Amino acid sequence: MAEIGLKNLRHSYLPSPAGPDDFALKEINLSWDDGGAYALLGPSGCGKTTLLNIISGLLTPSEGHILFDGQDVTALPPDKRNIAQVFQFPVIYDTMTVYDNLAFPLRNRGVAADRVDARVSEIAAMLELDDSLTTRAANLTPDAKQKISMGRGLVRDDVNVIMFDEPLTVIDPELKWKLRSKLKELHQKIAVTMIYVTHDQTEALTFADQVVVMQDGEIVQIGSPVELFERPQHTFVGHFIGSPGMNILPCEVTGDGAWFHGCHVPLEGPVKGTGQRTEIGVRPEFVRLADGGIPGLVRKAADIGRHTVVEVMVGDTPVGAIVDGPAPERGAEVHLTFDPHQTRLYTDGWIATERAAP
Ligand code: ATP
Repeated sequence: MAEIGLKNLRHSYLPSPAGPDDFALKEINLSWDDGGAYALLGPSGCGKTTLLNIISGLLTPSEGHILFDGQDVTALPPDKRNIAQVFQFPVIYDTMTVYDNLAFPLRNRGVAADRVDARVSEIAAMLELDDSLTTRAANLTPDAKQKISMGRGLVRDDVNVIMFDEPLTVIDPELKWKLRSKLKELHQKIAVTMIYVTHDQTEALTFADQVVVMQDGEIVQIGSPVELFERPQHTFVGHFIGSPGMNILPCEVTGDGAWFHGCHVPLEGPVKGTGQRTEIGVRPEFVRLADGGIPGLVRKAADIGRHTVVEVMVGDTPVGAIVDGPAPERGAEVHLTFDPHQTRLYTDGWIATERAAP
């Protein structure tokens, strides 16, 4: 296990990058604690795989350093970094039994047979593979094969980090939640540093204690799932996390607050800094239909089980609200209020309100 540090990392796939747009990773600095559960979350093309390959040693960064427990490993090849990796598609030996597949990484390192047996039994039990240990891997379902692949990553107890790159891609949707929670449980049992790469917010938020959200080769926020939901530091995070995402509403800012379509909108606290583009950020969970407030017309309402998501047009801006009880009719005139404690101002995408002192 190791603490992992990334210092001033930049990477370009071009031989002579001219400007920031030529970098797949722009400037990455972070520190991951020994034994933590982390997720790298972001849309396709934001640089997750590039970062993972740099950590594992498959790719040498154009600039910067990778540190394992303070030791610079930037120049070390992958086999010297002591990392286990689980990929999107199962990496297993079809002709071997489940047992031999799980034992392989240990036998390969000369681990004694009784230790191999104990460890394989332990991991197989955790992954519920113990009934199929003598089965040939070729005869198993894709889900079971991916479980073996995970098991091969988890079986060694001497690794610095285990990295999962979209490991649930091949798993049936109904089994995904099961494996997701299994992985979380496994992390609690074997406290190895784990990094989980995904573009799926549910996977990231359920697995990780800390989520690193990336966009266009940059980290936009590192935080716990609650922090990312409650106080997105950037409109991208607000919009990307949550379903539906945060309302990002163009507004005017004057000395006495924010104005949206001519209505004064109380914010969580004082505004710091200025910018060219000003927007209010409020999650649909904190928008209410009320007797007074910002007038709008209901465009649609969708029943999502316990709640209804209502989309209200305020002028030409759609505003989402999650409401309990019956949904208003399409075309109905309604009024909206925002919970001031959960209403933030963003300038040029970045949060610009301070929380008022309690
Ligand atoms: P995905 O989820 O689709 O795998 P990602 O977040 O992992 O995306 P990367 O694969 O790291 O993103 O890609 C980051 C950027 O680098 C993208 O613009 C991509 O086109 C570019 N890129 C990735 N690999 C190469 C390569 N081998 N050569 C040139 N450009 C590359």
